[in-house]
Amino acid sequence: MKVHEYQAKELFSSFSIPVPAGQVASTPREASDAAATFSGPVVVKAQIYAGGRGKAGGVKLVDSPKAAEDVARKILNHPLVTHQTGPEGRMVNRVLVEEATDVKTEIYLGITIDRSHRLPVIMASPAGGMEIEQIAMDSPEKIFKEWISPEIGLRPFQSYRLALKLGLSAPETKQVALIIGNLYRLFVEKDCSLVEINPLVISSDGVAIALDAKINFDDNGLFRHPEIEKLRDPSEENQLELEAKKNNLNYIKLDGNVGCLVNGAGLAMATMDLIKLAGAAPANFLDVGGSANEEMIQKGFSLLLSDADVRAVFINIFGGILRCDILARGIVAAVKHLEVNIPVIVRLEGTNVEEGREILAQSGLEFLRAKDLNEAATLIAQALRGGEE
Ligand code: GDP
Ligand code: MG
Repeated sequence: MKVHEYQAKELFSSFSIPVPAGQVASTPREASDAAATFSGPVVVKAQIYAGGRGKAGGVKLVDSPKAAEDVARKILNHPLVTHQTGPEGRMVNRVLVEEATDVKTEIYLGITIDRSHRLPVIMASPAGGMEIEQIAMDSPEKIFKEWISPEIGLRPFQSYRLALKLGLSAPETKQVALIIGNLYRLFVEKDCSLVEINPLVISSDGVAIALDAKINFDDNGLFRHPEIEKLRDPSEENQLELEAKKNNLNYIKLDGNVGCLVNGAGLAMATMDLIKLAGAAPANFLDVGGSANEEMIQKGFSLLLSDADVRAVFINIFGGILRCDILARGIVAAVKHLEVNIPVIVRLEGTNVEEGREILAQSGLEFLRAKDLNEAATLIAQALRGGEE
């Protein structure tokens, strides 16, 4: 789960990480009122669950409440397209109006899990700002790292060792080392998968301040944090994913065009591989689970079809606790209620498979039946080629 920058900054504050004074506004008028509470220039920042806003015109430095109002009018209620949003962009419902900081140095600071080391890693770079992805590719030696043993925790000398590599003065180094310690504490206490400050700046008067804030929380830890769950903004989440969640379906939207309905996460992963091998790409991950009933199957199937990207559906079920006849009834019920004008490929095996096949065959509806996975792959490839001709 992600949160907005202004929410992440509130959390930073509660972990003693300095952030600029700021207020959230959802109308141009509120933005001008917010700007008027600060004496000097302000920064108006679009609040969406995506970065790259600066380059896309979603972060503007202005020097009067009137200018803040004008900028807010241009940003609010318009989609913002950044390199992280996809071409359709994301609707901006709020802006953060902040006291502007006179920036001397921009630093990158981030903490995540390093899967190859199987440890949390703290990363810092003196080349912070908007080009960090490029730096990571072209000059990775400019990004310094400290790995943390979770049993021991972060030791102060590690924070200093990292901060000392940033080429700052002694008092600045000390502030950054303290921020690293506080950021790691937040990362652990709130079960984060990523915390990032880019840029962490040193102001012209030598004060370290977090100008940007990004936090991703590990969904598996959310049950321990009702205070974080409350921050969720449904308008920022994929509507199909939300709908699936309400129905206890594990659904994740992906960017291909073969919709898949599978039981069991392992089989779902294997199915996505199979689709790739067939030269296509999955439109989603959908695990209906081992104990799905007819209604859930029906719901899952209609979710797949309501995704405009889906050009073929592949149903791959290994009947165990979920019996093939129940699955078939769910599918038939769904198809009867919906207009299906794309190919549906079905591969069924396991408990009550004969009954399941019979129900599909008797339904009068057209399914492409695959007897095994190889045949399924061929049918998927054919179905997509057919769609292009
Ligand atoms: P992002 O592009 O989505 O990562 O948004 P950021 O919050 O990082 O803002 C983009 C850039 O705007 C930053 O890298 C800074 O260079 C600049 N910026 C943001 N706030 C201020 C500010 O108060 N003063 C100055 N001088 N620059 C700022
Ligand atoms: Mg940033």
